[in-house]
Amino acid sequence: MKLEPEARMALVTAMVELERTGLNHGTSGNVSVRVDGGLLVSPSAVPPAQLSPVDVVALGDDGAVLGSNRQRPTSEWRIHVDVLAARPDVGAVVHTHSTEATALACLRRRIPAVHYEVGLAGGATIPCADYATFGTPELSTNVLAALDGHDACLMANHGVLAVGPDLAAAMALAVEVEWLAAVYRRAVASGEPVVLPDGEMRRVVSAYVDYRSRS
Ligand SMILES: [Zn+2]
Repeated sequence: MKLEPEARMALVTAMVELERTGLNHGTSGNVSVRVDGGLLVSPSAVPPAQLSPVDVVALGDDGAVLGSNRQRPTSEWRIHVDVLAARPDVGAVVHTHSTEATALACLRRRIPAVHYEVGLAGGATIPCADYATFGTPELSTNVLAALDGHDACLMANHGVLAVGPDLAAAMALAVEVEWLAAVYRRAVASGEPVVLPDGEMRRVVSAYVDYRSRS
């Protein structure tokens, strides 16, 4: 786990990178990182270009704001708190409104195993969480349910959530989900893609687990 000053800087860098790469726009999306005693989250309504480490908000494990912060936490702080509480294996959470994945989420479609890299999210599909209003406990509940056994999900009529043991892993998975969504949409637009069978996806997922344990 990174020390807090280092984690604040990494979080700012991640928010800037999400905008630079087009995964987020304006003040959409948010990021959190687990630290000793709680988590750091991106603030509400601060464009990434204006973000500095002091704008990052510190929350306790229960979501209470810690110390004096000059910004309010992201409106989706509850999802970050709940995911980190439910998943001890997770060290960082990345939420985006990336275009291709959000387009699928607006159709309320999950991403099936049209490409073996779907297994990077831990299963044979990347599920789509049921819709609820942003910032509500219901949305957090729906996201947690969709994440069961997965490291990423779409969020109906909203966007994407990706998690990982650290921020770099969660960021990489958010990029991956966007690429898989684009591939799926193009494949569907051109015909009927072949979905890999569950047995093959179990082999893929266990191969990824082996690969990670060796690297
Ligand atoms: Zn959002």
